[in-house]
Amino acid sequence: MFDVPGWGGHRAGQHVDVRLTAPDGYQAQRSYSIASPPEDGMRVALTVERLDDGEVSSFLVDDVRTGDEIELRGPIGGYFTWDVRDGGPLMLIGGGSGVVPLMAMVRHRAAAAAPVPARLLYSVRAIDDVIYHAELDRIAAADPTFMPTLTLTRAQPPGWTGLHRRVDADMLEQAVWPAADAPRVFVCGPTPFVESVADILVQLGHAPQHIKTERFGPTGG
Ligand SMILES: Cc1cc2nc3c(=O)[nH]c(=O)nc-3n(C[C@H](O)[C@H](O)[C@H](O)COP(=O)(O)OP(=O)(O)OC[C@H]3O[C@@H](n4cnc5c(N)ncnc54)[C@H](O)[C@@H]3O)c2cc1C
Repeated sequence: MFDVPGWGGHRAGQHVDVRLTAPDGYQAQRSYSIASPPEDGMRVALTVERLDDGEVSSFLVDDVRTGDEIELRGPIGGYFTWDVRDGGPLMLIGGGSGVVPLMAMVRHRAAAAAPVPARLLYSVRAIDDVIYHAELDRIAAADPTFMPTLTLTRAQPPGWTGLHRRVDADMLEQAVWPAADAPRVFVCGPTPFVESVADILVQLGHAPQHIKTERFGPTGG
């Protein structure tokens, strides 16, 4: 969570660029989605997944302390955004940390108490990888028009009765509103995840202009 004096506000789904500068002048820059909703004012939350060999993510997760100053540029991105006034139904499909900008939309919708029906299909490897688990459960418990669904692709806890495979055509056919309902679909995650989900949605008859995608990175999940 960063206090950003002078922050002019953002739309759910936008990101910032984080630039780190070492004492010798070496710089590294990466993009991170804004996890907080516009309603949070000048407080901007990022959620960073630590990659073991990741230059920037490991620094942000391991080394940044309260009181540190970080260079942020943004908000960036006008396409992968959703506002309650855009309506729905709202279909969010996330892989791994790709859930972050989708969470900003979930939080925005909850903060605005918008009665837009919304579903989240969230694919992770194992239950411990689920980000925002308690918060998602809490929002869903308080709001019957929000339905999160998890799929655990690699390992499932004992007694798990939910989905346990990668997102495929059958899963999307079950989880996504029919194309005739023209859901607004947002897909975010590792590049191969996003491409595969978007291709299947088009095959299922969803109009490409209703499918907005954000690719996080080169590796699969
Ligand atoms: C628009 C946008 C929004 C993003 N939002 C977020 C976010 O909210 N939270 C978040 O954690 N990340 C997010 N990312 C990914 C982020 O920008 C970095 O790519 C990621 O943190 C890795 O950077 P690094 O410096 O730690 O790894 P690097 O040092 O760049 O790479 C280390 C290793 O990880 C691999 N790698 C690089 N990027 C990824 C990736 N995204 N996934 C898996 N493997 C990767 C590389 O191939 C390399 O092997 C976003 C990316 C984009 C484009």
